[in-house]
Amino acid sequence: MPVKCSFVDTHAHLTSEQILPVVEDVLARAKEKGISKIVNICTDETSLKEGLLLRDNYPWIFNAAATTPHDVELEGASFFPLVERCTAEGKLIAIGETGLDYFYEHSNRKEQQKYLSLYFSLATQTKLPLIFHCRDAFDDLFSMADQEYRGFSAVLHCFTGTLEEAKAVLDRGWYLSLSGIVTFKKSESLREVAEYVPLDRLLIETDSPYLAPQSHRGKLNEPAYLPETAQIIAHARGISLEKLASSIHENAEAFFSFSKVL
Ligand SMILES: [Zn+2]
Repeated sequence: MPVKCSFVDTHAHLTSEQILPVVEDVLARAKEKGISKIVNICTDETSLKEGLLLRDNYPWIFNAAATTPHDVELEGASFFPLVERCTAEGKLIAIGETGLDYFYEHSNRKEQQKYLSLYFSLATQTKLPLIFHCRDAFDDLFSMADQEYRGFSAVLHCFTGTLEEAKAVLDRGWYLSLSGIVTFKKSESLREVAEYVPLDRLLIETDSPYLAPQSHRGKLNEPAYLPETAQIIAHARGISLEKLASSIHENAEAFFSFSKVL
């Protein structure tokens, strides 16, 4: 009998409109596949409210919240006080996802930077770690963080950058999280990153409902698919799935300190 591994999905949008209507089934399938904890990323008032309700019923779900860089122009101002209040009430495990996205640039760059700054100060005040989203904007993320967030804790979620950018993430003491993209056939360079990151600085995630791994590509993603991503990373590193899963557990615990949250 193969050993059953236990996994932490460090980034999923369970309260997104795609997953929420079927969340009970999604969570049952996650349990079956050995997912023991999920960090649920809330990006607006509705998903946060639902996330807090979900945690009442599923204590193995933990919530993080922030407006994404895509939406700060429209929703940044109204959501920020709610995130602030939840941190004060001890209901969040982390702040995020925040950051910069110059690829889509759905919100203008100045506005993205303004909210990143606000989340830097909220994270330093509350001592909560940050979850970064960064696309085509590493130079600005690094220079802003070096000025405003030096020495504090963060993870670069759904990392798809180069080896040099991975090194720059690690140099800042941050964690790096890989998603199902690492399983795609063309993701050779990302598998090199998967091999390169020190085992004690690596996290994994599904980013559900987006980015389903290769065998489910194009479909709705869910935490139950995390083992496929883990398997590819373990293979790239030449270690067992058990070893990878237990290291991810230790890293996730060190980064999020799950027991701190209400
Ligand atoms: Zn996300």
